[in-house]
Amino acid sequence: MRADGTPSRQQLVTDAASGEVLSTHEEIQTANATGTGKGVFVGTVPLTTNQSGSTYQLKDATRGGQYTTNLAGKTSGNGTLYTNSTNSWGNGLASNTQSAAVDAQFGAAVTWDFYKNTFGRNGIRNDGVGAYSRVHYGKNYVNAFWDDSCFCMTYGDGTSNTHPLTALDVSGHEMSHGVTSNTAGLNYSGESGGLNEATSDIMGTGVEWYANLPADKPDYLIGELININGDGTPLRYMDKPSKDGGSADYWSSG
Ligand SMILES: [Zn+2]
Repeated sequence: MRADGTPSRQQLVTDAASGEVLSTHEEIQTANATGTGKGVFVGTVPLTTNQSGSTYQLKDATRGGQYTTNLAGKTSGNGTLYTNSTNSWGNGLASNTQSAAVDAQFGAAVTWDFYKNTFGRNGIRNDGVGAYSRVHYGKNYVNAFWDDSCFCMTYGDGTSNTHPLTALDVSGHEMSHGVTSNTAGLNYSGESGGLNEATSDIMGTGVEWYANLPADKPDYLIGELININGDGTPLRYMDKPSKDGGSADYWSSG
């Protein structure tokens, strides 16, 4: 096995007299492949995956090696890399464990492309390294979060484990917390915390507009597809923030 879990079959050429290794080559070759995913929220989308022998991995070498793992209800660890015998992932239903993974992997890809093609930024840390995403975190967990310490993105499955938090603006919002952390470093409290959150909403909305998906028409609402309130209303309204009953429309000394 190689470090990333890819199987290895090394051919060695040795000197018959001395035993010295003269050359090696790897027989298991990997290649970028273009697959298709059907996510819970993103609809049917292309995915750049990694082909390793006859197996496909939900891993994208063209975007810093970003990959998605299945936590299968656990709340710690890296999870298990998604693999498949075909390059077709998920079926659009939350009951298929790959569907949320399609959302997550696609969300990471679009966020990568948005930052790269809009701002010339090469990944969240601008170092070319992709973050990984974990789906199916915990039980009935109604949130998603970015964590600098694992440099990873995590999604819960929501109410009754049937409403994953994997919508595109949520992906863009959370990964933008990583960008803020690696740039402005705004403390997560008071006014700087408000700017931190607002920046994530703005950039997350930018990601949604950049993707321009038929299944998720761009708008200035946050989390309009995940139905976290149970009545179809979004989490936040960027046209008039006070519509959510709690946010301020503009700065005040309070
Ligand atoms: Zn946030």
